[in-house]
Amino acid sequence: MNGRRLCLMGLMPEQIAADLALKPYQGRQIFQWIHRKGVFDFESMTNLAKPLRERLKEQCVVQDMRIIRTQTSEALGAMKVLFELHDGERIESVLLRDGGRVTLCLSSQAGCPLNCAFCATGLGGFRRNLDPGEIVGQALLLLSAGEVPREVSPNVVYMGMGEPFLNYDAVVASIHLLMHPEGLCVGARRITVSTVGVVDGIARFANEDWQVRLSISLHAANDELRSRLVPHNRANGLAQLRNALRDYGAKTGRQITFEWTLLDGVNDTAGDLREMLVFLKGLKAFVNLIPWNPVPELSFRASSRANCIAFQQGLEQAGIKTTLRRENGGDIAAACGQLRALQEEDLKSEI
Ligand code: SAH
Repeated sequence: MNGRRLCLMGLMPEQIAADLALKPYQGRQIFQWIHRKGVFDFESMTNLAKPLRERLKEQCVVQDMRIIRTQTSEALGAMKVLFELHDGERIESVLLRDGGRVTLCLSSQAGCPLNCAFCATGLGGFRRNLDPGEIVGQALLLLSAGEVPREVSPNVVYMGMGEPFLNYDAVVASIHLLMHPEGLCVGARRITVSTVGVVDGIARFANEDWQVRLSISLHAANDELRSRLVPHNRANGLAQLRNALRDYGAKTGRQITFEWTLLDGVNDTAGDLREMLVFLKGLKAFVNLIPWNPVPELSFRASSRANCIAFQQGLEQAGIKTTLRRENGGDIAAACGQLRALQEEDLKSEI
């Protein structure tokens, strides 16, 4: 969409300066306008000299993605946004509000190659990796679309479309952009990367010099069931995952979050709970239980509220801290990939 124009959203201040042959302070000024002040219009960057503003207008764009659909749920305090990227690919992200807290849920890939059995994203197949600007751009555009005051420091979770550890370098670059003190300055502890459990990604993540949080989408703690729900488990079985997490814990001392999407009769029984407790033994674990968001094409059923609570109590009794997410993202199609699927249906019906 932007031809050969340089896209600035994914560049650090020093990269902006280098790519445009500017002074370092000018790179920082441009970065601050974009990331700290959320100003994307070069004309409004009033501390830049007029000739520089003119040059930027000719040679650059701040971002080359746009919002094509927004859905809001007052009840959930959620706003879900569908973006179109420069090549027509579509991704989605969510802004969640809870009291004064704002959480941004970002995508790391357009589509996803992992095909988890209960997830809508996999149904659309894998399209491509996102670049750092497309990842951080979701955060900046969500904040402005949601009119979030600049002084609010958001939480960021990489739990939208795609597998962050299959796009490792771009995800890490986007985290550095989000944390930059002259930009959004998001605290590392407010950022969580969620992975299906790609073990070499976990090993690399352990070596990053930061406090960014790691979350593992476990969903089952026996290989037979996990391979069915999360096919990537066939490449990286539970024993390998357990070893990678033990090493990660030893190296970083950090707590690990585990996500478990509760599916009726599939992974919500007392036996599943027992297996999970065995897997978690010795790890500094926190568990995030997620009621399944129904996906029309898939035949799973969400666990009953009673089963969700029983599962949670079982974990708590074993001394593991948990959260049980609120049910029913359904009214804004909050499950992964669903907004994109909806939009495609609209397009089909227009033809
Ligand atoms: N690929 C990464 C991040 C994206 S998915 C990962 O697997 O962690 C974020 C979380 O939402 C994962 O735990 C995923 O299993 C879960 N999820 C996907 N579809 C869901 C649905 N329909 N209902 C509830 N949770 C879902």
